Amino acid sequence: MANTLAEQVGLGPTWTALLHPQIQTLQVPQLPGINCNQCRMVEEGGFHPFARCCNIYPEFPNFLLGEILEKGQRPGSQATVAGWIEEGRSGPAYAHKPPVMHERYNNQNYDNVSEIPPCPLLDEQGHCTVYAQRPHTCIEYNCVYPLYPEIIGFWHAFHSLLGLHSYLTSRYLLHALGWDVEAYQEAWKDTPNDAIWGDQLSIQPDFHSKLWNGQAPERFYKDCSRYVQDNQDSIREEVEMYRRHQLQEQAEATDNEERLQELNQLPNALTFREPPLVLWEEVSVGRHIAPEDNPWTLTEFEGYILWLHKAMMGRYAFELSRQPTS
Ligand code: SF4
Ligand code: SF4
Repeated sequence: MANTLAEQVGLGPTWTALLHPQIQTLQVPQLPGINCNQCRMVEEGGFHPFARCCNIYPEFPNFLLGEILEKGQRPGSQATVAGWIEEGRSGPAYAHKPPVMHERYNNQNYDNVSEIPPCPLLDEQGHCTVYAQRPHTCIEYNCVYPLYPEIIGFWHAFHSLLGLHSYLTSRYLLHALGWDVEAYQEAWKDTPNDAIWGDQLSIQPDFHSKLWNGQAPERFYKDCSRYVQDNQDSIREEVEMYRRHQLQEQAEATDNEERLQELNQLPNALTFREPPLVLWEEVSVGRHIAPEDNPWTLTEFEGYILWLHKAMMGRYAFELSRQPTS
Protein backbone atom coordinates (compact mmCIF):
# COMPACT_ATOMS: atom_id res chain seq x y z
CA MET A 1 0.00 0.00 0.00
CA ALA A 2 1.27 3.47 -0.86
CA ASN A 3 0.20 6.99 0.00
CA THR A 4 1.15 10.25 -1.54
CA LEU A 5 3.90 11.95 0.40
CA ALA A 6 1.50 14.80 1.31
CA GLU A 7 -1.02 12.30 2.72
CA GLN A 8 1.56 10.31 4.59
CA VAL A 9 2.99 13.28 6.44
CA GLY A 10 -0.35 15.11 6.82
CA LEU A 11 0.46 18.43 5.18
CA GLY A 12 -1.94 21.34 5.67
CA PRO A 13 -2.91 23.92 3.01
CA THR A 14 0.05 26.25 3.50
CA TRP A 15 2.65 23.51 3.24
CA THR A 16 0.78 22.09 0.28
CA ALA A 17 0.90 25.41 -1.56
CA LEU A 18 4.68 25.56 -1.12
CA LEU A 19 5.68 22.12 -2.26
CA HIS A 20 6.00 21.33 -5.94
CA PRO A 21 3.08 19.10 -7.04
CA GLN A 22 5.51 16.42 -8.26
CA ILE A 23 7.00 16.18 -4.77
CA GLN A 24 3.64 16.17 -3.00
CA THR A 25 2.33 13.33 -5.11
CA LEU A 26 5.34 11.03 -4.85
CA GLN A 27 4.11 7.64 -3.76
CA VAL A 28 5.63 6.44 -0.53
CA PRO A 29 5.01 3.08 1.11
CA GLN A 30 2.88 3.16 4.20
CA LEU A 31 5.43 2.77 6.92
CA PRO A 32 4.72 -0.34 8.90
CA GLY A 33 4.72 -0.10 12.64
CA ILE A 34 4.09 3.62 13.21
CA ASN A 35 1.76 3.50 16.12
CA CYS A 36 2.22 6.49 18.32
CA ASN A 37 0.07 4.86 21.00
CA GLN A 38 2.67 2.15 21.21
CA CYS A 39 5.72 4.22 20.51
CA ARG A 40 8.81 2.07 20.30
CA MET A 41 10.90 4.87 21.77
CA VAL A 42 8.68 4.90 24.86
CA GLU A 43 8.99 1.16 25.14
CA GLU A 44 12.78 1.51 24.95
CA GLY A 45 12.67 4.10 27.74
CA GLY A 46 13.86 7.05 25.65
CA PHE A 47 10.67 9.10 25.75
CA HIS A 48 8.02 9.87 28.32
CA PRO A 49 4.71 8.06 27.53
CA PHE A 50 2.82 11.37 27.42
CA ALA A 51 5.15 13.60 25.39
CA ARG A 52 6.78 10.84 23.30
CA CYS A 53 8.72 12.55 20.49
CA CYS A 54 6.86 15.83 21.15
CA ASN A 55 9.48 16.68 23.73
CA ILE A 56 10.86 19.64 21.84
CA TYR A 57 10.11 23.34 21.58
CA PRO A 58 9.72 23.87 17.83
CA GLU A 59 10.27 27.15 16.01
CA PHE A 60 7.48 28.20 13.66
CA PRO A 61 7.89 30.32 10.53
CA ASN A 62 5.60 33.32 10.02
CA PHE A 63 3.32 31.66 7.43
CA LEU A 64 2.51 28.71 9.75
CA LEU A 65 1.94 31.03 12.72
CA GLY A 66 -0.51 32.94 10.54
CA GLU A 67 -2.35 29.78 9.58
CA ILE A 68 -2.66 28.74 13.23
CA LEU A 69 -3.94 32.19 14.20
CA GLU A 70 -6.40 32.25 11.29
CA LYS A 71 -7.69 28.73 11.43
CA GLY A 72 -6.49 27.13 14.62
CA GLN A 73 -7.03 23.44 14.73
CA ARG A 74 -7.61 21.83 18.06
CA PRO A 75 -8.62 24.04 20.98
CA GLY A 76 -5.73 25.81 22.64
CA SER A 77 -3.38 26.26 19.69
CA GLN A 78 -4.45 29.81 18.84
CA ALA A 79 -4.24 30.86 22.48
CA THR A 80 -0.75 29.36 22.87
CA VAL A 81 0.61 31.15 19.82
CA ALA A 82 -1.17 34.39 20.73
CA GLY A 83 0.44 34.05 24.18
CA TRP A 84 3.93 33.82 22.64
CA ILE A 85 3.21 36.97 20.69
CA GLU A 86 1.83 38.71 23.74
CA GLU A 87 4.97 37.80 25.66
CA GLY A 88 7.11 39.33 22.92
CA ARG A 89 8.72 36.05 21.97
CA SER A 90 8.49 36.28 18.22
CA GLY A 91 10.28 38.00 15.38
CA PRO A 92 8.91 38.75 11.90
CA ALA A 93 10.34 35.62 10.25
CA TYR A 94 9.98 33.08 13.05
CA ALA A 95 8.61 32.54 16.54
CA HIS A 96 12.05 31.96 17.94
CA LYS A 97 13.19 29.58 20.59
CA PRO A 98 14.79 31.71 23.30
CA PRO A 99 18.34 30.64 24.28
CA VAL A 100 17.10 29.83 27.76
CA MET A 101 14.73 27.28 26.17
CA HIS A 102 17.54 25.91 24.01
CA GLU A 103 19.51 25.26 27.18
CA ARG A 104 16.56 23.73 28.91
CA TYR A 105 15.89 21.33 26.06
CA ASN A 106 19.56 20.63 25.32
CA ASN A 107 20.20 19.69 28.93
CA GLN A 108 17.33 17.24 29.07
CA ASN A 109 17.87 14.37 31.39
CA TYR A 110 17.23 11.26 29.33
CA ASP A 111 17.86 9.13 32.41
CA ASN A 112 14.73 10.63 33.88
CA VAL A 113 12.36 11.10 30.98
CA SER A 114 9.58 12.44 33.20
CA GLU A 115 11.62 15.64 33.57
CA ILE A 116 11.55 16.35 29.86
CA PRO A 117 9.00 19.11 29.22
CA PRO A 118 6.43 18.40 26.52
CA CYS A 119 5.95 20.74 23.57
CA PRO A 120 3.59 23.57 24.58
CA LEU A 121 1.34 22.65 21.64
CA LEU A 122 0.57 19.18 22.88
CA ASP A 123 -2.95 18.91 24.33
CA GLU A 124 -3.95 17.15 27.52
CA GLN A 125 -4.61 13.92 25.67
CA GLY A 126 -1.12 13.98 24.17
CA HIS A 127 -2.22 15.09 20.66
CA CYS A 128 -0.61 17.81 18.59
CA THR A 129 -2.96 20.79 18.44
CA VAL A 130 -1.43 22.07 15.19
CA TYR A 131 -0.80 18.86 13.26
CA ALA A 132 -1.40 20.31 9.78
CA GLN A 133 0.65 23.39 10.61
CA ARG A 134 3.47 21.72 12.48
CA PRO A 135 6.91 22.90 11.43
CA HIS A 136 9.44 20.90 9.47
CA THR A 137 11.22 19.72 12.64
CA CYS A 138 8.14 17.68 13.49
CA ILE A 139 7.51 16.22 10.04
CA GLU A 140 9.77 13.24 10.01
CA TYR A 141 9.22 9.68 11.00
CA ASN A 142 12.74 8.89 12.00
CA CYS A 143 11.58 6.37 14.52
CA VAL A 144 10.48 3.40 12.49
CA TYR A 145 11.68 3.38 8.95
CA PRO A 146 14.02 0.58 7.94
CA LEU A 147 17.62 1.56 8.43
CA TYR A 148 18.95 1.48 4.88
CA PRO A 149 20.95 4.40 3.47
CA GLU A 150 18.48 4.90 0.60
CA ILE A 151 15.53 5.18 3.00
CA ILE A 152 17.33 7.29 5.58
CA GLY A 153 18.65 9.46 2.74
CA PHE A 154 15.23 10.17 1.25
CA TRP A 155 13.56 11.12 4.54
CA HIS A 156 16.43 13.30 5.72
CA ALA A 157 16.58 15.05 2.37
CA PHE A 158 12.81 15.62 2.46
CA HIS A 159 13.10 17.03 5.96
CA SER A 160 15.95 19.30 4.73
CA LEU A 161 13.76 20.42 1.81
CA LEU A 162 10.95 21.46 4.17
CA GLY A 163 13.53 23.34 6.23
CA LEU A 164 14.74 25.15 3.12
CA HIS A 165 11.17 26.05 2.12
CA SER A 166 10.52 27.35 5.62
CA TYR A 167 13.62 29.49 5.72
CA LEU A 168 13.23 30.92 2.23
CA THR A 169 9.48 31.47 2.32
CA SER A 170 9.57 33.24 5.69
CA ARG A 171 12.15 35.67 4.30
CA TYR A 172 10.49 35.99 0.91
CA LEU A 173 7.26 36.99 2.67
CA LEU A 174 9.07 39.78 4.47
CA HIS A 175 10.26 40.99 1.09
CA ALA A 176 6.85 40.54 -0.60
CA LEU A 177 5.06 42.37 2.21
CA GLY A 178 7.35 45.36 2.01
CA TRP A 179 9.99 44.76 4.67
CA ASP A 180 13.63 45.68 4.38
CA VAL A 181 14.92 42.11 4.66
CA GLU A 182 18.57 43.09 4.77
CA ALA A 183 18.01 45.52 7.63
CA TYR A 184 16.07 42.82 9.43
CA GLN A 185 18.84 40.23 8.96
CA GLU A 186 21.56 42.72 9.92
CA ALA A 187 19.66 43.57 13.11
CA TRP A 188 19.81 39.93 14.21
CA LYS A 189 23.38 39.39 13.05
CA ASP A 190 24.81 42.52 14.64
CA THR A 191 23.09 42.20 18.00
CA PRO A 192 24.51 39.83 20.61
CA ASN A 193 22.13 37.26 22.05
CA ASP A 194 22.09 38.77 25.52
CA ALA A 195 21.08 42.16 24.12
CA ILE A 196 18.21 40.43 22.29
CA TRP A 197 17.03 38.16 25.06
CA GLY A 198 18.80 39.01 28.30
CA ASP A 199 18.15 35.78 30.18
CA GLN A 200 14.45 35.95 29.46
CA LEU A 201 11.89 34.09 27.38
CA SER A 202 10.90 37.34 25.68
CA ILE A 203 12.81 39.61 23.34
CA GLN A 204 14.03 42.78 25.09
CA PRO A 205 11.48 45.57 24.55
CA ASP A 206 13.93 47.90 22.72
CA PHE A 207 15.02 45.23 20.30
CA HIS A 208 11.44 44.04 19.85
CA SER A 209 10.23 47.49 18.78
CA LYS A 210 13.27 47.89 16.49
CA LEU A 211 12.46 44.55 14.85
CA TRP A 212 8.76 45.19 14.39
CA ASN A 213 9.00 48.86 13.61
CA GLY A 214 5.44 49.63 14.63
CA GLN A 215 3.83 46.60 12.94
CA ALA A 216 1.45 44.33 14.84
CA PRO A 217 2.90 40.78 14.89
CA GLU A 218 -0.44 38.96 14.90
CA ARG A 219 -1.74 40.86 11.89
CA PHE A 220 1.54 40.40 10.05
CA TYR A 221 1.58 36.61 10.57
CA LYS A 222 -1.99 36.39 9.28
CA ASP A 223 -0.99 38.46 6.23
CA CYS A 224 1.83 35.98 5.58
CA SER A 225 -0.50 33.01 5.65
CA ARG A 226 -3.05 34.83 3.46
CA TYR A 227 -0.37 35.78 0.96
CA VAL A 228 0.57 32.13 0.56
CA GLN A 229 -3.06 31.07 0.19
CA ASP A 230 -4.00 33.91 -2.18
CA ASN A 231 -1.00 33.10 -4.36
CA GLN A 232 -1.02 29.34 -4.01
CA ASP A 233 -0.56 28.78 -7.74
CA SER A 234 2.52 30.96 -7.95
CA ILE A 235 4.11 31.05 -4.49
CA ARG A 236 6.60 28.27 -5.11
CA GLU A 237 7.81 29.96 -8.31
CA GLU A 238 8.03 33.32 -6.56
CA VAL A 239 10.16 31.85 -3.79
CA GLU A 240 12.31 30.02 -6.35
CA MET A 241 12.95 33.26 -8.28
CA TYR A 242 13.86 34.96 -5.01
CA ARG A 243 16.25 32.08 -4.23
CA ARG A 244 17.94 32.18 -7.62
CA HIS A 245 18.45 35.89 -7.33
CA GLN A 246 19.96 35.43 -3.88
CA LEU A 247 22.37 32.73 -5.12
CA GLN A 248 23.27 34.75 -8.23
CA GLU A 249 24.22 37.67 -6.00
CA GLN A 250 26.35 35.40 -3.85
CA ALA A 251 28.09 33.93 -6.91
CA GLU A 252 28.79 37.43 -8.26
CA ALA A 253 30.12 38.61 -4.90
CA THR A 254 32.54 35.65 -4.75
CA ASP A 255 33.46 35.77 -8.49
CA ASN A 256 32.17 32.23 -8.88
CA GLU A 257 31.66 32.32 -12.66
CA GLU A 258 30.95 28.61 -12.96
CA ARG A 259 28.08 28.72 -10.45
CA LEU A 260 26.74 31.91 -11.96
CA GLN A 261 26.57 30.32 -15.39
CA GLU A 262 24.92 27.22 -13.94
CA LEU A 263 22.28 29.35 -12.24
CA ASN A 264 21.66 31.41 -15.35
CA GLN A 265 21.08 28.27 -17.40
CA LEU A 266 19.01 26.41 -14.84
CA PRO A 267 15.72 25.25 -16.40
CA ASN A 268 12.47 26.16 -14.66
CA ALA A 269 11.03 22.67 -14.95
CA LEU A 270 11.69 20.19 -12.20
CA THR A 271 13.90 17.37 -13.47
CA PHE A 272 15.39 14.27 -11.96
CA ARG A 273 18.93 15.07 -10.68
CA GLU A 274 21.58 12.81 -9.26
CA PRO A 275 22.59 14.30 -5.90
CA PRO A 276 26.18 15.45 -5.50
CA LEU A 277 28.30 13.16 -3.32
CA VAL A 278 28.46 15.77 -0.59
CA LEU A 279 24.67 15.68 -0.22
CA TRP A 280 24.44 11.89 -0.33
CA GLU A 281 27.19 11.58 2.30
CA GLU A 282 25.18 13.73 4.71
CA VAL A 283 21.63 12.51 4.29
CA SER A 284 22.36 8.79 3.85
CA VAL A 285 23.82 8.64 7.36
CA GLY A 286 20.95 10.60 8.90
CA ARG A 287 22.19 14.15 8.88
CA HIS A 288 20.04 17.07 7.77
CA ILE A 289 21.19 19.96 5.63
CA ALA A 290 20.49 23.13 7.61
CA PRO A 291 18.87 25.79 5.40
CA GLU A 292 21.72 28.23 6.08
CA ASP A 293 24.19 25.63 4.75
CA ASN A 294 22.09 24.57 1.77
CA PRO A 295 23.68 25.98 -1.40
CA TRP A 296 20.99 24.84 -3.88
CA THR A 297 17.89 26.30 -5.46
CA LEU A 298 14.52 24.69 -4.76
CA THR A 299 14.45 23.23 -8.27
CA GLU A 300 17.88 21.66 -7.82
CA PHE A 301 17.09 20.28 -4.39
CA GLU A 302 13.70 18.94 -5.43
CA GLY A 303 15.40 17.27 -8.41
CA TYR A 304 17.70 15.48 -5.94
CA ILE A 305 14.65 14.45 -3.93
CA LEU A 306 13.17 12.79 -7.04
CA TRP A 307 16.39 10.80 -7.46
CA LEU A 308 16.52 9.85 -3.78
CA HIS A 309 12.89 8.82 -3.92
CA LYS A 310 13.64 6.43 -6.78
CA ALA A 311 16.56 4.98 -4.80
CA MET A 312 14.30 4.53 -1.76
CA MET A 313 11.58 2.79 -3.76
CA GLY A 314 14.20 0.52 -5.34
CA ARG A 315 15.39 -0.48 -1.89
CA TYR A 316 11.84 -1.24 -0.74
CA ALA A 317 11.19 -3.32 -3.87
CA PHE A 318 14.44 -5.24 -3.32
CA GLU A 319 13.63 -5.93 0.34
CA LEU A 320 10.11 -7.07 -0.52
CA SER A 321 11.43 -9.39 -3.23
CA ARG A 322 13.64 -11.07 -0.62
CA GLN A 323 10.76 -11.80 1.73
CA PRO A 324 9.62 -15.44 1.62
CA THR A 325 6.23 -16.01 0.01
CA SER A 326 3.78 -18.05 2.00
S1 SF4 B 1 6.21 9.44 15.52
FE1 SF4 B 1 7.48 7.73 16.18
S2 SF4 B 1 8.71 8.47 17.92
FE2 SF4 B 1 6.97 9.90 17.59
S3 SF4 B 1 5.36 9.12 18.99
FE3 SF4 B 1 5.00 8.22 16.97
S4 SF4 B 1 6.02 6.24 17.05
FE4 SF4 B 1 6.85 7.49 18.73
S1 SF4 C 1 4.18 21.14 17.20
FE1 SF4 C 1 2.93 19.32 17.38
S2 SF4 C 1 4.13 17.67 16.39
FE2 SF4 C 1 5.53 19.35 16.85
S3 SF4 C 1 6.42 18.86 18.84
FE3 SF4 C 1 4.65 20.21 19.20
S4 SF4 C 1 2.94 18.85 19.59
FE4 SF4 C 1 4.57 17.63 18.61
